[in-house]
Amino acid sequence: MPTSPQSPHLPFGDNVHSPWYGKDVLSVKNLDRKDLEYIFGVAHEMHGMVDRVGSFDLLKGKILANLFYEPSTRTSSSFHAAMERLGGSVIPINNVKYSSVSKGESLADTIRTLECYADVIVLRHPEVGSAAIAAEAAEKPVLNAGDGVGEHPTQALLDLFTIFSELDIGEIDGKTITMLGDLKYGRTVHSLARLLTLYDVKLNYVSPDILKMPQEVMDEVAAKGIPQAEYSSLEEVLPETDVLYVTRVQKERFKNPGDYEKVAGSFVINTEIMKAAKEQMIVMHPLPRVNEISPDFDKDPRAAYFRQMEYGLYVRMALLAMVLGKA
Ligand code: ASP
Repeated sequence: MPTSPQSPHLPFGDNVHSPWYGKDVLSVKNLDRKDLEYIFGVAHEMHGMVDRVGSFDLLKGKILANLFYEPSTRTSSSFHAAMERLGGSVIPINNVKYSSVSKGESLADTIRTLECYADVIVLRHPEVGSAAIAAEAAEKPVLNAGDGVGEHPTQALLDLFTIFSELDIGEIDGKTITMLGDLKYGRTVHSLARLLTLYDVKLNYVSPDILKMPQEVMDEVAAKGIPQAEYSSLEEVLPETDVLYVTRVQKERFKNPGDYEKVAGSFVINTEIMKAAKEQMIVMHPLPRVNEISPDFDKDPRAAYFRQMEYGLYVRMALLAMVLGKA
C-alpha cells in the first residue's frame, strides 16, 4: 500500500517481473538506448517528486548497505540521500578501518554479511573488478560506485542525464564532447566514453602524454564507429566543443609522486580561456576539483558541475527504485 503521495507515473508494489528487478549495475557496457531512456524517465519523475514532496515512501522498509573502501563525498552522500528520500534506510560503512575488513575479512565475506541485513549494496573499492566479485558473492543487487581505475557507471549515467537535461533532449546526436585531464586513471571518463558510443557524437581527448585514454576504451569506441581524436592542447578543440568534461589528475593512483608533480596543473579552465568556447555549451566535472577549474568560472551559466551533482541524486534514486522492483 502506498503510504505517501505517489506520482501517477510511478507504479508501486514490488515489480518482480521488471527487467531491472534484482539486477546489478557493474558497468555501462551492456546498456542500450532504451535502458537509458527508461532510467532517465524514472529519474525525471524522481526530480518531480522531490520538488513536490521532498521525501516519499517508495522504498519504505528497504535497507541500503553503502560500503566505501575509498574516500567519497558525493557518491556516498547522494546514494544515502537517495535512499532516505525514497523512505528507506542506510547502513553507512565508510571507514572500513573500524569494520572487520581491518581484521582481514575478504570482500566476498563482507558482502555476504551485509546482504543478510540489507536489500541492496553500493560498493566503492580500489580494485578493478571488485564490484563484479561482490556481485558474484551476493544474491542481492550490487551497484558499482567506482572500482579503482575501472568504471563508475552511476556517475556516467548521471553525467549523461546532465547532458540531456542541459542541452535539449534528443539533441546529443551531432554534438562534440571533449574530455580533458587525467583520462588514464579517471574512471568516470572510461564509463562516459563507453556510454556515449550509443549516440552519434564526436569525442575529443585532451590530456598530458602520460595520462591518455586507455587503448582498451579507445578500441571499444572505435568498434562502435564513433569518431575520436587525441590532442595535447585544449585550444585546438575548445571552439567546437559542446560539452567540456574536465577531470582531476588522480594523485592517489600514481606510483611515483614525481610523475604527479610533472602533470598536476597541466590544464586550468578559467574565464579567460573560456572566451574561446561557444556561448551555448556546458562545462562538467565529476568533482572533487583540485585546481582544474578556477572558481572565477563558477558563476558562468555554462558551469554545470554543481547542477550535475543534483542530477546525480535523481539518477541514483531511479536506480535504487528500479533494482528493488519499485519503478
Ligand atoms: N569522484 C570521482 C570518482 O570517484 C572523480 C574523482 O575522484 O576525481 O571517480
